[in-house]
Formats: sequence, C-alpha cells, structure tokens
Amino acid sequence: MTDQISVVVPVYNEEHNIALLYDRVVRVLNGMDLSYEIIFINDGSSDRSLEMIRQLSVRDTCVKFIDFSRNFGHQIAVSAGLDVCSGQHVVIIDSDLQDPPELITDLLNRKREGFEVVYAKRRSRQGESVLKKATARSFYRLLQRITNVPIPVDTGDFRIIDRSVVEVLKQMPEQEKFLRGQIAWAGFRQTYIEYDRDSRNAGKTGYTFRKMFRLALDGITGFSNLPLKFATITGFLVSGIAFLMALYALYSRFIIKEYVPGWTSLMLTILFLGGVQLISIGIIGEYISRLGNNIRKRPLYVVSDTNISTFSSSALGKQEH
Ligand code: UDP
Ligand code: MG
Repeated sequence: MTDQISVVVPVYNEEHNIALLYDRVVRVLNGMDLSYEIIFINDGSSDRSLEMIRQLSVRDTCVKFIDFSRNFGHQIAVSAGLDVCSGQHVVIIDSDLQDPPELITDLLNRKREGFEVVYAKRRSRQGESVLKKATARSFYRLLQRITNVPIPVDTGDFRIIDRSVVEVLKQMPEQEKFLRGQIAWAGFRQTYIEYDRDSRNAGKTGYTFRKMFRLALDGITGFSNLPLKFATITGFLVSGIAFLMALYALYSRFIIKEYVPGWTSLMLTILFLGGVQLISIGIIGEYISRLGNNIRKRPLYVVSDTNISTFSSSALGKQEH
C-alpha cells in the first residue's frame, strides 16, 4: 500500500468554511500518490459545523470526526487529531482557509527531500488587525529570545510532520499544549517554506484576545524559566536600592540631621516595592497554576461522539488515570 497522509482540522464555528475547505483539500490530496484521511475535530461549535462534518463523513469514508463535549481550545483540538491520526505524513491546517490547502503539495515535496517537519512561515498576513499582527510579531520574538528551544518566528500550526514526530508529541503529557514549541523541542530535521497568509474565508476569529493571551503564556511558561529568574533578579535589584536608601535615610537623620518628612519618596518606595512584589508573585503564580493542572492529570479533552473506531483504545484510554 502507498503511504497515507492525515489532515488534522480543528473546527470552532466554521459552518461556512467546511464545505469549501473539504473541496480544496480533497482536490489537492487527489493529485497525490497517497491514500488519505481528513480528521475534523469539532471543538464545541455552537453553529452547524458538526452537521456539515457529519454530512461529509457520510459521503466520504476518508472523513473522520471527533466531537468534543465542549470548547477545549484550538491546541487541544489539534492534539486530539494527532492522537488518532494514522498517516505517515500529518498535516495540521486551520479550517477558515487562512492556510491555503494548495500549499500541502509543496509541504509534502519539501518533506520528501528528507525532513521530518516542514512548517509554513507567514511572509505576510492578510485581513488581520494591526493590533493582532503587532502583538503576534512581538510575542514570537520575545519567545525566541527567552527560550532555549528554537521556536520559529511568524509561524502558526500550519505544517506537515512525520509520524515519528507525532509519536513524540503523543508522549508529551503536559496539559498546556503549545504545539509549535513541542514540535521544535522534538528536534529531527526541520525546515520551512514561506507563504502569504490569506484572510479568513467566512465567519469571525475564534481566537479572542483572552485565548491568545493564554496561548502566549502557555508558550512562555512551557518553554522558559526566565520569567522566574526575572522575578528573582528584580527582587535583588530592588532590595539593593532599598538598602542604599535606608543608608541615606540614617545618614540624613543622624549625621546631617535634616529629616523633613519625605512623603513623596516614601510613597514612591512603597508603591515601587509593592509593584515588584506583586509582579513576582504573579509570575510564580502562573507557573504554580500550571504545575497544579499537570498534577491533577485530568483528561485533556472529553469526546461526546466520533466515527473513529480505534479511538476508544488509543485516546480514551488516556482518561483512565
Ligand atoms: N479553533 C478551535 N478552537 C477554538 C478557537 C479556534 O478549534 O477555541 C480553530 C478554528 O476553527 C480555526 C483555527 O482553530 O480552524 C484557528 O482559529 P482562528 O482562525 O479563529 O484564529 P486566528 O486565525 O484568527 O488566529
Ligand atoms: Mg484564522
């Protein structure tokens, strides 16, 4: 038998995009010498997305689906797809057509030149707010500076990965998924191709600012301990300054005997110290809350329906912890 390619598609309220996405993906896959499966993960959509996916799965047996019991988030939806996919080559692609399916051919060709990971790097992004582009840009650069893992800049999850990488990902038990980081961490031979990111076909973004912020924090806390060190370093720095100020206070009190009540400096000091302490506690809290999540070992997601038969043995087994 020829190799198989799996396409993993997370879906959250994409009723107007699913049919078109399916058509474009299938057209591309049919042009290849591979058998394929397309796995849709319905991440608690409140529109007719699930219905559309079911219709496709009736028409085409290569269409598989997993229906989550609620919205668990994009990264977890993709992880569920990776848990059950069986292809030698695995593509992760958004369902809003911001990632052009036609690029899968190029991704696969590049992979066949001898790479385990080929990610699609955004040369430009269309139809996204200035704020989103700016925050994304600075986040990717910050992350690259403070981690030891070479996480590529300006890259989403659109990529092709080899089965060997999927098997590594399945062994990574963390609750906070940041797949780009985890894939970079996995190593192997990785490369990229560049593309211009389209604007979304229909509907609106499922990534609220809140979700983006959470993803950013997951990326940072999952792959860097620098923020914790930052808390320690600023703590020492501020203590040093406070010590000098104490010396000065004693000096003015006892030597030059000039001790007009310094309300301003007092307030500034208190506010400054309070601020630094709160920031440090906050940073520590972010890490501790993630520790807590991982100790609880809850299942990553809950499936309410699926047409994948192997599912119960492979992924549901994970919930037995
Ligand atoms: N998505 C998801 N769960 C969510 C939010 C988004 O599965 O909670 C999916 C969404 O359907 C899309 C992909 O993740 O296929 C990227 O989301 P979106 O296009 O909304 O994000 P953006 O491109 O605006 O960053
Ligand atoms: Mg999008």
